[in-house]
Amino acid sequence: MESYDVNELFARIDASGSYDIDKIKRSYYLAEELHRGQKRISGEDYIIHPVAVARIVYECQLDTNSICAAFLHDTIEDCSDRVTLADIREQFGKDVADIVDGVTKLNIPFETKQEASIRNLRKMFLAMSKDLRVIFVKLADRLHNMRTLSVRTPEKQRSIALETMHVYAPIAHRLGIQRIKQELETLALSYLDPIGFQEIKKDTEKRYGESKDFLADATQKVAKGLDAYKIHYKLEGRVKSIYSIYKKMYNQNKSFDEIYDFYALRIIVDTELDCYTVLGIIHEMFNSVPGRFKDYISTPKQNLYRSLHTTVIGTGGIPFEVQIRTWEMHEVAEYGLAAHWKYKSGEQANQALDEKLHWIRSLLETDADGNDPDEFLQALKIDLFDDEIFVFTPKGDVVNLPAGSTPIDFAYAIHSAVGNKMVGAKVNGNIVPIDTVLQTGQIVEVLTNPNSKGPSRDWLSCVRSSEARNKIRMFFKREMRAENIELGKQAVERELRRYGRRFTDAQRDQIMASLAPRMGFAEADDLYNSIGFGGMDTVKLGTKLKEEFNRVVSPELPEQKPKQPALISEQSEREERKARKSSESVIVDNVEGCAVKFAKCCSPLPGDRIIGFITKGYGISIHKYDCVNVQNGLKRPEERDRWVTASWTDRAEKHALGGFEAFLNVFATYTPNIIAELTVALRDMKVEITSLSTKESGDTITMTFGVRCGDTGHLASIISALRKNDAVRDVTRGNV
Ligand code: MN
Repeated sequence: MESYDVNELFARIDASGSYDIDKIKRSYYLAEELHRGQKRISGEDYIIHPVAVARIVYECQLDTNSICAAFLHDTIEDCSDRVTLADIREQFGKDVADIVDGVTKLNIPFETKQEASIRNLRKMFLAMSKDLRVIFVKLADRLHNMRTLSVRTPEKQRSIALETMHVYAPIAHRLGIQRIKQELETLALSYLDPIGFQEIKKDTEKRYGESKDFLADATQKVAKGLDAYKIHYKLEGRVKSIYSIYKKMYNQNKSFDEIYDFYALRIIVDTELDCYTVLGIIHEMFNSVPGRFKDYISTPKQNLYRSLHTTVIGTGGIPFEVQIRTWEMHEVAEYGLAAHWKYKSGEQANQALDEKLHWIRSLLETDADGNDPDEFLQALKIDLFDDEIFVFTPKGDVVNLPAGSTPIDFAYAIHSAVGNKMVGAKVNGNIVPIDTVLQTGQIVEVLTNPNSKGPSRDWLSCVRSSEARNKIRMFFKREMRAENIELGKQAVERELRRYGRRFTDAQRDQIMASLAPRMGFAEADDLYNSIGFGGMDTVKLGTKLKEEFNRVVSPELPEQKPKQPALISEQSEREERKARKSSESVIVDNVEGCAVKFAKCCSPLPGDRIIGFITKGYGISIHKYDCVNVQNGLKRPEERDRWVTASWTDRAEKHALGGFEAFLNVFATYTPNIIAELTVALRDMKVEITSLSTKESGDTITMTFGVRCGDTGHLASIISALRKNDAVRDVTRGNV
């Protein structure tokens, strides 16, 4: 139980000699007077809370004004009828008043809604950019509230613990205050997953009990070694925190027994040189685990953390981690930036603060000049959440995605229907390729078209979130079963052909029918389906496929060598009639007249540089050379030989009159007549409109027209005609 004895705290502060104890006492007396009669939920006098917060702030080695602010931090909110910020400013100065004000403003639940959370994070950072001490006092406030969370309702416990885990602990980590960070995480975990927490706690105690002597033994050995070199040092032995173990077990899917940095020794020495000397001594005494040495002295972590880390094998083959650091590094590690206020006062302290703020800014600066507060905030957010991003919908709602996500992830995060009808995306108002990697702070808009046939299989390779991946798979699974089965059959055939013996469709089906139950599927079609939508890879069938093949297909039959063009024309005979017109427009690999179709992702027009792709059974699809799918596809070695050169024939334009479909994204200032005006403009040019979708956002309207046109020149003239309308801001060529 922690002490709420304020006199004991005063005595400690006074003894340290570097504080204005009278001012600190005055702030306590005022807080005590103001909170008198108020109770905490536990029934205790309210004043114990500010006292505890002041103690934590003092222990973080913050300055006089921070301790005063800690005592007063809840007065403005809880005693507004008796005290104002002006009163505090008058009695304790601007610094104290500003910190109290900053802390008060942060008294908003962060986790109620994502949007609110990000807005409050911003406020928090704004406060921070004014004075870091606000954050320290706020963290101390949260730490005491977490220590006393058991009296709250289960709902409150959960929401406060979540907020602590998602907002406060990462901030403590960023500021390098390991002590507060670890305690916050451990306390939060005990409420968020009490069962997991207790399990690990029990395991930890058991393991520690079983090898109680291990740490003592290792400590003793190390001490002996260091003494021989006459190095001045301090040794600390410890076991890994419950939350670090928990995180390792869950993130890296390890069992408790696989945590091999369970034990750690910390050696604190006087100079940097000593650190390296100690490292040498340790490596001489014990065998080190390869790949576990880290020199955070020469390359400090972003939060200023510096130390040498190594893992060595101790008695009984038990590994333990050794951290070696100087006293200065130790203080920074424990208290983060707060350590820099120590021993500094007045002008010197302000200068130190400025230096640190400057450091944080430069640390977080992107390529922007850093003067723009929004840029600064954006950089801060990215740094704080380096494995996730926050982007905005046009309405200002926040969507949280894993880092590296694309507009496709965003679309599926909104709704699977949005993802399935997605045809393009805008970031900050500009059309971008749908596989663009999103950054925190961007405004993302999804362009949809009700006629869209659904997602492309290639999307699976550029999405980051499992949500998007699952929804895309689900789409193929549900809506494309027939096609999936067909694709699955072709994939299996390709695999079987590698075995070099001829086989019939019936044999193929027989093989798969006997494999299906072994792979957990009811029947062959389910297995084909799964292969078709990408849920199952033929590679996974591995030797089982080969075994079945050898069982079903007799080895006497000679190999049938498929010839590429013949193969294509055989497979696409059905489609031939439909494709004739386009076949006459394009030459593929110098072979005229093979079945081609134009890819919906880029809708190539005569005049565009094009390339062909041998599809799995639907002839050759023609893409624009600069289509995203092409650029991605060419990177995949397994598909490289399916890309074939293609060019337009002389007849292309003639055949294409009214034959090619192109898509135009028109961005315009909204007027009631805009759609009508543009439709009329197109009709006047005798351009057939094949589809139209619109989307309004604020004063902007985005229209996607599908139009029939001849070639790129024709399209250019259509674009310039549309641009003549005053309301039109931009027209770009887009996708379906
Ligand atoms: Mn408080």
